[in-house]
Amino acid sequence: MAKKRRRGGFNPALAILVALALAGAGFGLGWHFGVQSMRYKGDILLVNEQNQLPATYVPEGLVNLYQNRHSFRLASSDIYLTRETYEAAERMFHAAEEENVNGFIITSGYRSYERQGEVYAESEPGKAQRPGASEHQTGLAFDVTTETSNGFESTPQYAWLSQHAHEYGFIQRYPANKADETGISYEPWHYRYVGVEAAKRMHDTGMTLEAFLKKYR
Ligand SMILES: [Zn+2]
Repeated sequence: MAKKRRRGGFNPALAILVALALAGAGFGLGWHFGVQSMRYKGDILLVNEQNQLPATYVPEGLVNLYQNRHSFRLASSDIYLTRETYEAAERMFHAAEEENVNGFIITSGYRSYERQGEVYAESEPGKAQRPGASEHQTGLAFDVTTETSNGFESTPQYAWLSQHAHEYGFIQRYPANKADETGISYEPWHYRYVGVEAAKRMHDTGMTLEAFLKKYR
């Protein structure tokens, strides 16, 4: 009797239906898919004043840098990036280290919509993006500095990144004199992961992400 009852409790057909329903719900509600239709250009997520993220957008697979990083330092223990971005950053800073360029300190990574709202409220007008318009909400961007920085752009670390960041899939997202395209004035400390192929093309042509996506995606 007990055996029969146990068998009755498990219905393979029902289990398959439940699994399919769950998979379907996950697929339909996946942030990646929800956002892709609106803001992805090709395979690259574009976030700026005209292309804002919803308040509910949280990237998948955020990695705590403090628990993982080897080749760079951190301004705090609660900085996160997507796994792919973190791994590319690790490779990049490791390569810099091999050339005796050390002392990179990541000061900021992923910021939630709410956190960006606080940053925006605390900042002088024009110094921070409004929530939804910040790349930091993607988990694909970080800010970096060094301990001795009087201005990151005058450091050897900055010079190294200018030459090599694209080899690891990063672009300097807000170059000097490109605010008419990006909407944001020079930020030598802000790097964005776009993948090696796109980063190389942008580096070689001097294009901003906006100009690149307009032309190629
Ligand atoms: Zn930034």
